[in-house]
Order: sequence, then structure tokens, then C-alpha cells
Amino acid sequence: MGNLNGKIVFITGASAGIGAATAFAFAREGARLLLAARRRDRLESLAAELKQAGAADVHTVALDVRNRAAVASTIEALPSDWKAIDVLVNNAGLSRGLEKLYVGNIEDWEEMIDTNVKGLLYVTRAVVPGMVERNSGHVINLGSTAGDQTYPNGAVYCATKAAERAINDGLRQDLLGTAVRVTTVDPGMVETDFSLVRFHGDSERAAKVYQDLTPLTPEDVAETIVWTAARPAHVNIARVLMTSIDQANSLLFNRRQQTGLR
Ligand code: NAP
Repeated sequence: MGNLNGKIVFITGASAGIGAATAFAFAREGARLLLAARRRDRLESLAAELKQAGAADVHTVALDVRNRAAVASTIEALPSDWKAIDVLVNNAGLSRGLEKLYVGNIEDWEEMIDTNVKGLLYVTRAVVPGMVERNSGHVINLGSTAGDQTYPNGAVYCATKAAERAINDGLRQDLLGTAVRVTTVDPGMVETDFSLVRFHGDSERAAKVYQDLTPLTPEDVAETIVWTAARPAHVNIARVLMTSIDQANSLLFNRRQQTGLR
């Protein structure tokens, strides 16, 4: 891949799922990893494995991206040799609940909006000025097929990912004339803790989401993220929309028991 060796890669939501897999994929390229999540113990136990996997260095920060003041002060307080962030992966995010909008849980809505939209904005606002100053950098946002097409019972999660797409496109326009790149990677279903979190820990319900089909793996998405970062500096991949072979869009799946196909 392109030269990511020694580059500082900041990944939010690196304690699990796509974020953790992305940390390993960048580690294999010899990057320096700046990892954030609320569960710092998880980040710390990943750090040793990431170094073994090839990371040049690992620095972890406990951070709730919903906390605007904490985001600003955490970025401000980074050790001087971690400040020049080359790649920001805005990955921290979640879904909560799957129900009709008119009976939806308002606290769930707020958690999704605060994390997926406002949290992403806070981190972007704190990191991108440095990239502009250095005239170098890459922001990679995690979107979703959910932002491409709304599905029933998921209006608010889908709205947060539609907002992510608008922010991604707006940021790219606002950075025109600089060498800072902006990409959204928009996966369909990926098997992670995502559904467990969505259903507030109901593992039986979460398992049903992935039943009778092959979803994407976090590693599939991580490889794609690294691929976008490894393009030559003048190439900006605006958007990658990706699903497993068993998904056509956010509404249409091939569940083998039902379809009889493969
Ligand atoms: P996951 O396994 O549940 O991981 C989510 C990560 O986000 C965790 O590391 C979690 O860490 C972190 N996080 C959540 N709230 C946070 C907060 N307030 N502050 C800091 N970190 C926070 O889920 P995933 O599937 O990897 O999801 C990662 C991203 O991919 C999300 O943006 C999601 O919307 C997107 N996505 C997922 C799928 C899918 O099917 N799985 C599809 C398309 C897009 P802590 O709990 O330790 O803070």
C-alpha cells in the first residue's frame, strides 16, 4: 500500500468492531496509532497487540465524543509528538432501538444524534484546523447504507448517517484549495457489537440480524479504509458504498432460509 509508515492515525471508537479492525489494518502499515473510546481498558489491552502487529507506536485516550469540552481539551493536550494528525477516522458511532418513529425512545434518539452527528463534528472541528495549517491530512468518516436509503423503524439512525454524508460532502467542498482529503466509507451490514448495542444488550435479538446471511466483517471495512488512505496524495476517494454479496441496499437481503438462494 502507499506510504502510511510512521503516519499518525487518529481513530475514534477504536475499542471494538470496525474501529479496532481499522487500528490493526493501519498497524500492519507501520502507522502510529492514536486511539480513542470511552473504554480505555480495552484500548490499553489492544495497544500491545497492535505494536506486535506492526504499529510504530500507540497512544490511547479515554474520550466520550459527545462531550464537547473533553474533545477540545483532549486534542489540545496531546503530547507534542502526537499533535500532527495525518489521518482522522471518525468511526465512533452507534444505533439505539429499532421501532416506529412515532413511538421511538427520545433518549435513544439523542444518544445517536449526540454521538454520530455532534460527536463527529466536535472531533472534526478540533482536528482539521491543524491539517489545514500543515496543508496535509485525510478525514475518513464512517457512513452507512443507512445514510443512502432509509429503512423502516430506523429513521433516526438513518438520519444521522444522512447527516454524516452531508457533513462529509460539505467538508470536502470547504477544504477545496488545500491538500486535505475527505472520504466517507459507507458499509452495509457488518457483524460487530453494533446490533447488541442497538438492542441494549439483547444478544438473542442481535444474533437474528446476521442469521442466514453472510455480513461484511470489520476487517473488510478496515481494509477499504486503509486503501482510501493509501491512494497517492492527489487522489481523493469521495465515497465508498460497500455491502456483502447478501445485501443489495439497506432494504434488500438474501436470507438463505427464505430465498433458497445459495
Ligand atoms: P461497535 O462494535 O459497537 O463499535 C462502536 C465503537 O464506537 C466502540 O469502540 C465504542 O467504544 C465507540 N463509541 C460509541 N459511542 C462512543 C462515544 N460516545 N464516544 C467515543 N466512542 C464511542 O460498532 P461498529 O459496527 O464497529 O460501528 C462503528 C461505526 O460504523 C459506527 O459509526 C457505525 O454507525 C458504523 N457502521 C456500522 C455498521 C454495522 O453494520 N456494524 C454498518 C455501517 C456503519 P466505547 O463504547 O468504548 O466508547
